[in-house]
Amino acid sequence: MNILIINSGSSSVKYKLFNAKDEKELARGSVERIGIGRSILKHIPAGGVEIRLARYIPDHDAAIRLALDFLVHKEHGAIKDISEISAVGHRVVHGGEEFSSSVAITSRVIKAVRSHCKIAPLHNPPNLTGIKVAQKLLPGIKHVAVFDTAFHQSIPPSAYLYALPYNLYEKDKIRKYGFHGTSHKYVAFRAAEILGKPLRKLKLITVHLGNGCSITAVENGRSVNTSMGFTPLEGLVMGTRSGDIDPAIVFYLMAKRKLTAHEVDDLLNKKSGLLGMSGVSSDMRDVYKRVKRGDKRSKLAFEVFINRVQKYIGSYAVDMNGVDAIIFTAGIGENHPPTRAAVCRKLSFLGLAIDQKKNNSAKKEKVITTGGSKVKVLVVPTNEELMIARETYQLMKK
Ligand code: ADP
Repeated sequence: MNILIINSGSSSVKYKLFNAKDEKELARGSVERIGIGRSILKHIPAGGVEIRLARYIPDHDAAIRLALDFLVHKEHGAIKDISEISAVGHRVVHGGEEFSSSVAITSRVIKAVRSHCKIAPLHNPPNLTGIKVAQKLLPGIKHVAVFDTAFHQSIPPSAYLYALPYNLYEKDKIRKYGFHGTSHKYVAFRAAEILGKPLRKLKLITVHLGNGCSITAVENGRSVNTSMGFTPLEGLVMGTRSGDIDPAIVFYLMAKRKLTAHEVDDLLNKKSGLLGMSGVSSDMRDVYKRVKRGDKRSKLAFEVFINRVQKYIGSYAVDMNGVDAIIFTAGIGENHPPTRAAVCRKLSFLGLAIDQKKNNSAKKEKVITTGGSKVKVLVVPTNEELMIARETYQLMKK
């Protein structure tokens, strides 16, 4: 029984095919630059080499058709016929307050996802396009929506409300939603397995540091607070996003520099974060290279990045009245020992002690604290697609 995972963005479609029973990945790939020229499909069958096809791909319909062609390709495919796909799991960014778990897609679900396009204008529309095209090309099987926001629906009002006039929440649904939920949920589950303790008895802080960065307090398996907010702009410093700032800076910039709302939005989302501060790059690898060479602004960017993570860890330890383990994941969290070491440097008051050898080891999944450390620190590679496949499989069995 095979499950296809589709993550449909504005100009890209990523896909992965899993065997649902043993969770083996059979193939994966992506189609990028859809509709903007120099489009490219990359397809990797399990254990095989990457196949690339460069050709203009005008829209999502053509992109998903091409991906399916490669999945059944005689030489590079993973299955003989598309009838071997039993269900499709779709990543959907915003489920608003309607969805606290994954759901089988019906016309009611599509309507609800569409109603959230107002608050997720960059993500929900292409997610819906992916669903529409996949339903057309793979009819008669279950399509499931797995939401980035769903895991965070357990956050209490004391943490999700902003101190704004209450009718902005009631009428306009302005509140913290949180994102990266599938990743936080996956690594929390996996960390409990590694620690050999039931998730419902653990207080965890999951730290997702990639291009986008967010951090979540997971108490007894439920998200109780998270750093991203109404949009993915709030919280940690990211590759190009500022994270938390004083909101008054927005009006000051508009008045002083005569920037439009759109220009400020662009500045905070695309020109800030590691890129804005360092002036070098949004990529931690480039920034840290400069840090080692003594570049002052890159060093400042790194320090602000670390300080913000520390601030949230402290806050979430208080939120849960304790913490058993901290889990690092995503591009930076999984691959950059100096970031993990720097974050943990100020956490010794919790009884946390990093084992530098373990932190620097090449192992992908690991505990990096000493045997005696009261709070454990783990590195767990995220696998959002596998989590989507699991949730799709659960709903298939219902
Ligand atoms: P996304 O948030 O787009 O899913 P990833 O989780 O793949 O992205 O993270 C991408 C980021 O991870 C890159 O921009 C880079 O900053 C960082 N990264 C990836 N590999 C390394 C590495 N070896 N060392 C430090 N940072 C890394």
